[in-house]
Amino acid sequence: MGRPLAYSRRSFHSFVGVTRTVARRRQIYEGKAKILYEGPEPGTLIQYFKDDATAFNAQKRGTISGKGVINNRISEHIFTALQTIGVPTHFIRRINMREQLIRQVEIIPIEVVVRNVAAGSLSKRLGIEEGTQLPRTIIEYYYKDDALGDPMIADEHIACFGWATQDEMNDIADMAIRVNDFLSGMFAAIGIRVIDFKLEFGRVWDGDYARVILADEISPDGCRLWDMKTNQKLDKDRFRQDLGGVEEAYQEVARRLGLLQPEDESAVLDFDSHRKKRGK
Ligand code: 5GP
Repeated sequence: MGRPLAYSRRSFHSFVGVTRTVARRRQIYEGKAKILYEGPEPGTLIQYFKDDATAFNAQKRGTISGKGVINNRISEHIFTALQTIGVPTHFIRRINMREQLIRQVEIIPIEVVVRNVAAGSLSKRLGIEEGTQLPRTIIEYYYKDDALGDPMIADEHIACFGWATQDEMNDIADMAIRVNDFLSGMFAAIGIRVIDFKLEFGRVWDGDYARVILADEISPDGCRLWDMKTNQKLDKDRFRQDLGGVEEAYQEVARRLGLLQPEDESAVLDFDSHRKKRGK
């Protein structure tokens, strides 16, 4: 037998004169923690979760190993559950470890923060000790603008600049309260206190009629989650405040939600040791 005929696909195609076109997804947007790509059908997008982390308006940057994988799973879990209680969201389905298919929305440029316990900017601004239970839940609005550092705004600004209509703001406030009730119950059942969190909403059009749905993600990146017994922080504050154990905290939230089996942890967070363990 002679030598087997060896050729690379490329040389073969050049030889026969075929121009190969490589399908490349169009990137729509790259944010600090996620990338959006064009989806397979009109009106859909693919949301890719990165391990990159930023804080203090991107003045602090870093990587949280495996964060993208965990946030993808946690957000899928929460958005799916919210849909079952009638909160409309942009989530369609998870595609793989780091990606989910979502509905394309017209983003409403407002960050909605819901607070149950004083922490973060509320404690700083008003001098209220972190951990103080608030007598009632507070909803705050911030204008989504990195260059301005996401300034806090009032309903009046939203109406004045036409960022959302009064009806849309009513729907947003109703949904924010429903999400808070749901999250507080779900996390209490696994020994976690929901201190505060940030939501984003978008508009979808049905002919001339616009509807507001929950967008973005819900994960330890945009929530403050404290262990009920120890008050240990299980969220991005560990990164913001250099507390260490950041990966472990995200992992712990996923584990308590039943999304991460003990044998999965190394797969998410330590690819090298996982490979070695499997002899590869
Ligand atoms: P604070 O205003 O105290 O800094 O944040 C309140 C809550 O909203 C916290 O749970 C925080 O994680 C979340 N949050 C506010 N703004 C942002 C933001 O730009 N990105 C993320 N990931 N979370 C935010």
